[in-house]
Amino acid sequence: MSADIHIAIIGAGAAGLAAAIFAAETRPDLKIVLFDSARSLGAKILVSGGGRCNVTNAVISAKDFHAPPRIVERVLKRFTKHDTLRWFESLGVSLKQEATGKIFPVSNKARTVLQALLRQCEKLGIEIRTNHCVQGIRKIQQQFQIQTNGGVFTAQRIIMATGGKSLPKSGSNGSGWSVMQQLGHTITDCHPALVPLVLSEIFFHKNLSGISHEAMLLTTVDGKTVDRRTGSVLWTHFGISGPVIMDASRFWVKGHAQGRLTTQAMSFFPEQTFEDVDRWLLEMSLREPQRSLVTLLSQRLPQRVAKTLCVYVSKKYSLPPHSHSPDVEIAALPINQLPRLSRRVLTHTLTGLHLPIERSRGWNFAEVTAGGIPLQEVNVNSMESRKISGLYVVGEILDCDGRIGGFNFQWAWATGYIAGRNVGQGLSRR
Ligand SMILES: Cc1cc2nc3c(=O)[nH]c(=O)nc-3n(C[C@H](O)[C@H](O)[C@H](O)COP(=O)(O)OP(=O)(O)OC[C@H]3O[C@@H](n4cnc5c(N)ncnc54)[C@H](O)[C@@H]3O)c2cc1C
Repeated sequence: MSADIHIAIIGAGAAGLAAAIFAAETRPDLKIVLFDSARSLGAKILVSGGGRCNVTNAVISAKDFHAPPRIVERVLKRFTKHDTLRWFESLGVSLKQEATGKIFPVSNKARTVLQALLRQCEKLGIEIRTNHCVQGIRKIQQQFQIQTNGGVFTAQRIIMATGGKSLPKSGSNGSGWSVMQQLGHTITDCHPALVPLVLSEIFFHKNLSGISHEAMLLTTVDGKTVDRRTGSVLWTHFGISGPVIMDASRFWVKGHAQGRLTTQAMSFFPEQTFEDVDRWLLEMSLREPQRSLVTLLSQRLPQRVAKTLCVYVSKKYSLPPHSHSPDVEIAALPINQLPRLSRRVLTHTLTGLHLPIERSRGWNFAEVTAGGIPLQEVNVNSMESRKISGLYVVGEILDCDGRIGGFNFQWAWATGYIAGRNVGQGLSRR
């Protein structure tokens, strides 16, 4: 059996396109074919970063990823943020850095990124076969037989870049994992990550829909803190979203899926303790006794949030003063009239509001996958599988997920670069 393809890349998303380009630049003499199950390419790149594609970040370290840090570091060192910047400039895509550190194309259009990658594939003579879903791969002697819905192909090397399961309608539906399992690889438990969270119907989130503010989020599993982070929260009609929620979601989703007692609590005063906030309320009650509670809290929080929290606290704990509409009353209450117990209950809520999370919004709304092929199963110097020689693995299919901010694309470019530079080694010229 003689292989008609030198290098077959399965999956033409960010990692697959990068791998194909670096492989073709390193070995222009080889026949390189990209297979993708989707009819049109790059759906995920096009929707990324709100349609602007956050390609990388100004500061990147292993701490931005959930995977063994020493292994991640070795990957990040091989293709840094500077390499990403230079690479995109060389592809004709000018990039700009925003105040948050996120880096986007100057055009503010994800399409600029996709088109540049596809243009480079074309220039390098890389063949792209869309609508080719890879259903199985067998290694027969030194070659791979690739079973697709469009026929059987043979290749000398394979780069597996089928992504995870986030946004399955884009084509990344987890089918690549089954192919890898058949080849003897392990797949860890996989969960949606960078995903918004749905709150109990009876909670107050609908009143706050569209409002965002800074908060600290604490996630505990079986009573132990597994994550603490500060950032922007966005209240929505279904529950909560925004960067800090998305980043923390993987911890809640995982703990919950494992049937463990998993909680998230939000502090509206990120850098302050219960005592700090309680003292502040006390001080203010002396300094400006006639000021209403809601006016005071509105100094630090959006007014609607301040009001809603007062209503919530007085309803939930039936706080005094009792009247016909106790909720309105506590908000309007001059602070020096707030009973000590009510003040302390309010402070508990302000510094550790329990979020009644029902579920995540699932794979259709997840930006990335937590879980996949363990990094220990590949040699990250080349991205070659430790189980099957000639098989390389890149991108989100691996068990490594980054936080929001361009880190997942950096992982895709970096792993694609390493595999692309190494995959052609040892292949004879055509
Ligand atoms: C809404 C959204 C916004 C995002 N925004 C950002 C952002 O701004 N910055 C950032 O860094 N990250 C972002 N991400 C994450 C980032 O897009 C992904 O981590 C990255 O695209 C993963 O690249 P990949 O090539 O490994 O996988 P994918 O992009 O998922 O590509 C996999 C490809 O493989 C194909 N495929 C799957 N199975 C098969 C099969 N069996 N046979 C053939 N082909 C197959 C799929 O069709 C797909 O084209 C976002 C994700 C989403 C969903």
